[in-house]
Amino acid sequence: MRYYVETYGCQMNVYDSRKMEESLTADGLSASESPEGADLIVVNTCSVRQHAENRALARIRELGKRASEGAVLAVCGCMAQRMGSELFKYKGVRLVLGPDSYSKLGGYFRSARDGAKVLDTSRDDSFRFQASDSYRGWGVRGFVSIMKGCSNSCSYCIVPSVRGAAVSRPPEEVMEEALALSRAGVKDVTLIGQNVNAYCHGGVGFSALLDATAERLPGTRVRFTTSHPRDMNESVIEVMSRRGNVCEHVHLPLQSGSDRVLERMNRGYSKERYRGIVTSARRAVPDVSITTDVIVGFPGESRQDFEETRSFFGEMEFDSAFMFKFSPRPGTQAARLADDVPLDEKEKRLAELIELERRTASARSARLVGRELEVLVEARKVKDGVPMLTGRTRCNRTVLFEGSSEISGKLVSVKIDSSRGVSLSGRLVNG
Ligand code: SAM
Ligand code: SF4
Repeated sequence: MRYYVETYGCQMNVYDSRKMEESLTADGLSASESPEGADLIVVNTCSVRQHAENRALARIRELGKRASEGAVLAVCGCMAQRMGSELFKYKGVRLVLGPDSYSKLGGYFRSARDGAKVLDTSRDDSFRFQASDSYRGWGVRGFVSIMKGCSNSCSYCIVPSVRGAAVSRPPEEVMEEALALSRAGVKDVTLIGQNVNAYCHGGVGFSALLDATAERLPGTRVRFTTSHPRDMNESVIEVMSRRGNVCEHVHLPLQSGSDRVLERMNRGYSKERYRGIVTSARRAVPDVSITTDVIVGFPGESRQDFEETRSFFGEMEFDSAFMFKFSPRPGTQAARLADDVPLDEKEKRLAELIELERRTASARSARLVGRELEVLVEARKVKDGVPMLTGRTRCNRTVLFEGSSEISGKLVSVKIDSSRGVSLSGRLVNG
């Protein structure tokens, strides 16, 4: 029996998909290269924007047609939680599983092979998937979930309703999983959660967890995402500056540079506070890379509000950003507000911000030219017929350089010769 998993959405879904693959492998199934060769096709979905849902639905329709006779199509993730049995109307869909029921996937697959249709969107606060040394699907970079759900109430966001309230994972489980990844060859571990700064378990907060993880994994890079500007604090920055293996990167979603809009988004911080965190992080960790998310066209966002976002965005000199048009999500507070920024104006604002992002991100990358950077070698890549290697810097940029594949998975030193957008090219130092 073979499985095929396709993933949409955020790092949580990437993590969940790897865990599903891990448990299916333990159940005796093997991976299929294509959906056509699979007995179980999993589509792990995202509900954050309507566009993401439309893409997944189009793909579910297509997979329903392409799947081999008798194959089981499973829709998992946030859309499964949100839409439930409605998804059974798509050809081939026999399993609809919310984010808390994946550990039962193998058993449900057998029931579906026997003809059942299974809907499981029940809630479960425990972390059913535990550490495993045998799984090799991560490669050199892996994620460890430190919490699930989110207890914030950002007015535009569907995550709390589909993923539930925040639950922090016991620190010992986090540590065990991080150690298991390291034993399985992972050299760069990211601690993930919707708002990692809100992590709290038995009196252990996020900075203590980060510190302990970095201490237990001395030869491994440690990262974290996503940070929240309301909860991010000096103690996290202090750990980042003190621990040599905690990488210099903070993903800190801004969402808007207008205090008026931030308040309507219910984000719980002002741009002054945001500026304070960035200033303090750059002072303590000079090479820190700051990346962000921004939403344009939120209900009531005036041209003036957008100009404030643009000006603040330019001032922050982000290393890169994900930028989105506001998309009303069912059941959220913002969906009850008039979606009054016309689509063409949303598109215009988005294009203006993307243009600015290209310039600031390129300028930040250009500053690295001439520097010697630590790079984790990830993969081989052929460019213009020449075999090359790609790797990742501590500040999370990709680097292309020539070298032998024998150094895959190793930390090497690369002298940066040129930059293009957020990508860098260089050459190995000392051969
Ligand atoms: N927990 C993270 C945070 O606090 O920013 C990420 C949540 S979400 C999975 C990723 C990004 O999607 C958000 O940062 C936000 O910019 C964007 N997003 C969320 N809801 C949205 C909506 N309704 N319309 C447009 N973009 C949205
Ligand atoms: Fe959504 Fe806000 Fe929670 Fe992020 S912090 S997942 S944007 S509610």
